[in-house]
Amino acid sequence: MDGVPFSAPVRTACPYCGVGCGVLATPNGMGGALISGDRAHPANFGRLCSKGAALGETLDLEGRLLEPRIGGRRAHWGEAIELVAERFRSAIATHGPDSVAFYVSGQLLTEDYYVANKLMKGFIGSANIDTNSRLCMASTVAGQRRAFGTDTVPGSYEDLETADLVVLVGSNLAWCHPVLYQRLAAAKQARPGMKVVNIDPRRTATAELADMELRLAPGSDVALFNGLLNWIEAEGAIDAEFVLRHVAGLPAAIAKARRMDTETAARATGLSAQDLQAFWRLWIRSERVVTVFSQGVNQSSQGTDKVGAIINCHLATGRIGRPGMGPLSVTGQPNAMGGREVGGLANTLAAHLDIENAGHRAAVQDFWRSPVICTEPGLKAVDLFQACADGRIKALWIMSTNPAVSLPQADDVAAAIRACPFVVVSDAMADTDTTRLAQVLLPAAAWGEKSGTVTNSERRITRQRAFLPLPGEARPDWRHLCDVAAAMGWGEAFDYSGPAEIFREHAALSALAADLGRDFDISGLAGIDDVAYDRLEPIQWPVPAEGDPGGRFYAEGGFHHADGQARMVAVEHRAPVSAPTAAYPLRLNTGRVRDHWHTMTRTAKSPRLSAHIAEPFVEIHARDAAGLGIEAAELVTLESPHGRAVARALVTDRTPEGSVFMPMHWTAIWSSEGRADALVGAVVDPISGQPESKAYPVRVERFEAAWHGFAVAVEAFAPTTAYWALARSTGGWRAELAGAEAPADWTGFAEALFGLEDAGARPVSVVDSGRGTARIAFVADGRVVAAFFAAPEPVEVARAHVVEQIGEVGVAAMLAGRPSIDRPDPGALVCSCFGVGVNTIRAAIEEQGLADVEAIGRALRAGTNCGSCRPELARLLARPKASLAAE
Ligand code: SF4
Repeated sequence: MDGVPFSAPVRTACPYCGVGCGVLATPNGMGGALISGDRAHPANFGRLCSKGAALGETLDLEGRLLEPRIGGRRAHWGEAIELVAERFRSAIATHGPDSVAFYVSGQLLTEDYYVANKLMKGFIGSANIDTNSRLCMASTVAGQRRAFGTDTVPGSYEDLETADLVVLVGSNLAWCHPVLYQRLAAAKQARPGMKVVNIDPRRTATAELADMELRLAPGSDVALFNGLLNWIEAEGAIDAEFVLRHVAGLPAAIAKARRMDTETAARATGLSAQDLQAFWRLWIRSERVVTVFSQGVNQSSQGTDKVGAIINCHLATGRIGRPGMGPLSVTGQPNAMGGREVGGLANTLAAHLDIENAGHRAAVQDFWRSPVICTEPGLKAVDLFQACADGRIKALWIMSTNPAVSLPQADDVAAAIRACPFVVVSDAMADTDTTRLAQVLLPAAAWGEKSGTVTNSERRITRQRAFLPLPGEARPDWRHLCDVAAAMGWGEAFDYSGPAEIFREHAALSALAADLGRDFDISGLAGIDDVAYDRLEPIQWPVPAEGDPGGRFYAEGGFHHADGQARMVAVEHRAPVSAPTAAYPLRLNTGRVRDHWHTMTRTAKSPRLSAHIAEPFVEIHARDAAGLGIEAAELVTLESPHGRAVARALVTDRTPEGSVFMPMHWTAIWSSEGRADALVGAVVDPISGQPESKAYPVRVERFEAAWHGFAVAVEAFAPTTAYWALARSTGGWRAELAGAEAPADWTGFAEALFGLEDAGARPVSVVDSGRGTARIAFVADGRVVAAFFAAPEPVEVARAHVVEQIGEVGVAAMLAGRPSIDRPDPGALVCSCFGVGVNTIRAAIEEQGLADVEAIGRALRAGTNCGSCRPELARLLARPKASLAAE
């Protein structure tokens, strides 16, 4: 159905986080679509967060890669496919199958992923295919495989709503999985007896929901949960019958946990004995307990053991697989789970089978009728790019991801990609930090144009359906993978008519896996025809050929180790590998913001998403900032042994002393030096290979700037100042700027900045050379087309007001830099849906005596649509006079 325009709403799935919300997309006939939540989808029941609600703003073709390119020139598909096939073929012939690699993405649909994995593992004969999901949940995969015998998520989202206690560990659910957070918040409101504990070194928006907040020392989760296991035993809370029948390894795990008495745990976690014991007591007394974990657990040099420590407590108490209880990992990406199902990681085989198992390998090879099969795990992400750097990888294909931004030591990764003799990138976008490094670019279909399936964090498979025609020469990923496979001589095995046929093969392979004792079984879908595939309703696996689909795993045991028993693993607390030093005294924690996604290739297209946080920032504790002479809203440099970044200081008590937090989204496309992962070292968990992205030593200093600026324009412009951060804004573009030397001619400088030298735009300026300030507006055809503000310190203009004036007739209103007295400045955006700013909300709270989030909603509508800003509204209610600079 690709390429066919629709007029009726099309049911599809959101392409962002692992909640996997259902979306209704109604094409408008002009290349766009109206977006709303799908009330019939069991993940979201109609809800969407701010990112999902703004999907309609990301569908235009600006910046899209619409034709194949070789060496920067336009190429024909046939030529590009033949070149890719030839370079892979010759590398394999000369240097062997392990001299080539694929680096793929949780953005791929399951069908794309399946084909990529089959080509690499079954036909090329290497396991050198890894995925950006390595950066997201590899520690969970390793931890679950070790404990359960396979990579199983035992529970479902509804367990969050029926639990008595929900423990959130290293998971800013409010910003990173907002609809799940909203489901939890609604459940807690309906059942106030439910308790929520938030465990995170940093005070995030999620803490607004918590009854108890444990701000533990970075990386000390194993100490906390080993301490809990010790208490479970001491309090007689072990479910002896469940353990006897279904669990091995308890004595060794308990022996390790006993070392974590209250005093030792308090030292390791930095928490008080009272807080620790209060949490442990609550956990033990709450039969229905769900422990939710994500990147704060996974992105650690001890991630697998952290997952193990959490699972140990659930296994010891038998609190797994029954309604309202169990460990629940939430994945970052829309199809991280689908990637796991097809074996998209370098150390797994398709359908949750094991590379290490000769019987599994033979079964898959036989099923694929492939000439070879990989015999050992391939290179995990960090090792894969190291192998590019040292010349072992001769040909690399990167699909729908941006490793030059998102991998640790990102500068070194960019250099490694540059050093690789042949690099092909398939992507929907033409200009990313990574496409800039490729010899061959293949135009990929984007969300809305491609068709297939994704699996969310609760094992629910949802159809992503095309509702827009394929633009230019863009093609779905499975299509060009199959074309390259055919050009390499394997056309028969890759002769698919479409995603439905690939899905049927994937489902049929799962039947074989189920026969071999694996959990992943969707054999009940192996026979669906194309029409049934198109109509497929969201469905939770397992979907066996006989019996009911969905449900939970392990309430009655039935684990997937050969003996049917789970394994408790003896784990021991270790501090993060890289300790702060005198030269690098602070720990860098990286993460996400509410309204951007990954490396911003899609969300940066949306003005309203970009308005929430418009430049890279670093949260720094007030005492650390004071010690370094850093004031709120100043620019700072961050340096590590591997790289450097510049960001705006957000002085706050949200991040603990000794730690700083920086979002991972900003790229070289959107900022001068905003790439957080340029700083992070390539330290990985020894079992999962997942990088430690939350505890790397850095130093922070003031960024010495002679001037600071703020600029807006109708047309795009490309700053080259010492510091810049560019963003979309309503009606145009905006940028924060700073320079090392003040220009002698501000007007000439601004003209050059906007590229208006020969445009005939009339400058209207107010320049005070003595104070070093300038306000310049450019007028063309009676309208303000650009404006520039400069000052020796961070520019104090009302951003929302200035952005509103672009394209308007009022030069004076623009140059004033803030609204007139009768129109208050709304302040920084809080509610993206209704454009409500922080000043408006604070004023309403004070003047109208608003007491809760619902009252704010009634007064201002803020928080009443997608609900993503509700935690921020709650924070404003708690601290109505909190520092605006720190927001
Ligand atoms: Fe998309 Fe938001 Fe749902 Fe995640 S929570 S799937 S980003 S709408």
